[in-house]
Amino acid sequence: MRSKAVVGNWKLNGSLATNEALLEALLREIPRQAATACAVCVPSPYLAQARALLDGSGIAWGAQDLSRYEKGAYTGEVSGPMLADLGCRYVLVGHSERRSIFGESDALVAEKYAAARRSGLTPVFCVGETLEEREQGRTEAVLARQVDALLHNGGAKQLDGGIVAYEPVWAIGTGKTASSAQADEAQAFIRGRIAGKDAAIAAALTILYGGSVKASNAAELFAMPNVDGGLVGGASLVAEEFVAIWRAADARR
Ligand code: PEP
Repeated sequence: MRSKAVVGNWKLNGSLATNEALLEALLREIPRQAATACAVCVPSPYLAQARALLDGSGIAWGAQDLSRYEKGAYTGEVSGPMLADLGCRYVLVGHSERRSIFGESDALVAEKYAAARRSGLTPVFCVGETLEEREQGRTEAVLARQVDALLHNGGAKQLDGGIVAYEPVWAIGTGKTASSAQADEAQAFIRGRIAGKDAAIAAALTILYGGSVKASNAAELFAMPNVDGGLVGGASLVAEEFVAIWRAADARR
């Protein structure tokens, strides 16, 4: 059976006070040991706070981006070894907001993925098409290009123990969710693309769906055979929503 996970992406939100209230509420509900991993990817300045509150709990923490570099004269960057030093288990790589707003290329995303692996972190590799690309019938071509960039820069082996998140750009933060069939179809395609290089790694790979996941649609999405949990933005800022989403993933056997 594949590992399941529900990962929250807080994006550029939070303060010491609101983070504490949110994490305390999650700690009351998420068990210390469960089959489904639960994690929050917080803004980097709050990683130490996340560690202080979550250490020893069933909730892991992670970052939303990392540098391709490990150290040196790279002002403003945060490296994989720094994230590992702060106890991060996860790091998002290639989120569509990084790709579209900050111009991250497929090649840079692949370098960041490799940097995360070198630091012992679990990268959550995000891929997904825009609305225009979907409407032009280019969804699979876009996913293939994004996945292939990673496969060319390090091969399929680096996906062993990693996580992929399929996040259609048109569904992120828009309230529009992909149908469960659309999510499953795209995620089956991603798995198949990786299987072309290494069938065993593809079969074991955790692939999350992200894009306006809510308590009300999580169970239907997570019931699909290729959907192994969720990457959750807006709803991860509301404790009851995030807990309900995690429970929906954990209930799936
Ligand atoms: C995300 O930020 O990765 C995301 C999926 O956001 P939302 O759930 O708000 O659509």
